[in-house]
Amino acid sequence: MKTLIKNGQIITAIDNYQADILVEDERVSVIGRKLEMEADVTIDAGGKLVIPGGIDPHTHMELPFGGTESSDDFRTGTIAAAHGGTTTIIDFAVQNKGQSLIAGLDRWHQKAEGKCAIDYGFHLITTELEDNQIEEMHTIMDEGVTSFKMFMAYPGVFLVDDATIFRAMSAAGERGGLICMHAENGIVINEIIKHALAKGHTAPKYHALTRPTGAEAEGVHRAIAIAEMAEAPVYIVHLSCADALNQIRQARDRGIPAFAETCPQYLFLSVDDYGEDFDGAKYVMTPPLREKANQSELWKGLKTDDLQVISTDHCPFCMKEQKELGRGDFTRIPNGAPGVEHRVPLIYNGGVVENRISLNRFVELTSTAAAKMFGLFPKKGTIAVGSDADIVIFDPDKEQTISAQTHHMNVDYSAYEGRKIRGVVETVLSRGSVVIDNSEFKGKAGSGHFLKRGTCVAI
Ligand SMILES: [Zn+2]
Repeated sequence: MKTLIKNGQIITAIDNYQADILVEDERVSVIGRKLEMEADVTIDAGGKLVIPGGIDPHTHMELPFGGTESSDDFRTGTIAAAHGGTTTIIDFAVQNKGQSLIAGLDRWHQKAEGKCAIDYGFHLITTELEDNQIEEMHTIMDEGVTSFKMFMAYPGVFLVDDATIFRAMSAAGERGGLICMHAENGIVINEIIKHALAKGHTAPKYHALTRPTGAEAEGVHRAIAIAEMAEAPVYIVHLSCADALNQIRQARDRGIPAFAETCPQYLFLSVDDYGEDFDGAKYVMTPPLREKANQSELWKGLKTDDLQVISTDHCPFCMKEQKELGRGDFTRIPNGAPGVEHRVPLIYNGGVVENRISLNRFVELTSTAAAKMFGLFPKKGTIAVGSDADIVIFDPDKEQTISAQTHHMNVDYSAYEGRKIRGVVETVLSRGSVVIDNSEFKGKAGSGHFLKRGTCVAI
């Protein structure tokens, strides 16, 4: 099977040039000017940007949380991702307390098997790690799960103590693995929440008001300090505010391998979106939306490489029957919001169109950097001879309006309802197969492969 993509402007993290691309089977085989090769399919990309497929390294499909389960499964969630120009997700398997690491991973393999429309990998959420489980951790790394997520938040559910974090960082670090940290002081937050509930503060906006930026900054500081003692790198997930970013900045200025991702919601939305009524439940996610002034600081961090990656933390719950569980008590609102479908065009819009970052940096932040961070480069994250043909043809001038009426995520609202943006994903190839053609899904659930990842090459 040969596919020829003609006349496109190829943008990678470092290149910007016009050329044709020949895809043979699953990989890019030739890149050159005016290629005159026979092909089964020819796609004219004249006037379009041709970029590497997006990599979203933070999604939660079918995640059990707060007495319900996130509303996208691996089928609907990966189809929505493809619509938005994302060809790889890294989701989170969960090791429950009292369960072996391998049992947790196996459970997620069962969930995803045969359902994904694009390629996928896993991190493992680790809730317990005693000395006698370290060998198991290394086995899991050999099976291609080279990153582990730990929580300083959610006491009694996911929270791990500092000793466990140190143990995990040391054990993973020894083999080139990476600990991804949900950095928020959940123990202090729980005290603040108790006070709020005692005063009768139950509306969604109190979710944000009980999780101060200081709790996040303290978590980031502590995660970096423990990583430094463990002589290991650390990756902070969903960094939301300037206070936390400053901790990363200071560490990086000292030469410490501290990394962080942020998400579109922290770049485009703010604490004002909670409003006064229950509609604000749409934005109950953790960390919460912050004061608007944080947005420009985060964009600055993305520009200066203090923030390296943009993920979504896609974790959708419908308003109906799911978010509604928390009517009258914000602590019962399932935490999370949809986003996997609009990350690439949103960042193009807020970044490139608004003149905050270059086209190359846009590709780096939405694809290349995650590939390097999570051991997928150069198979993924670039357009080069020999790399997987995960390719997006992106119309930079066309406009779209984001709406729950037209999106493909299995959720009854959009966090960006009515927002008009420039840039539309037109055609998407996943390992050489057209999965999105003129914005229509032509792929197949189940054609996505599990990705055995290598180790981080970002340091
Ligand atoms: Zn998450």
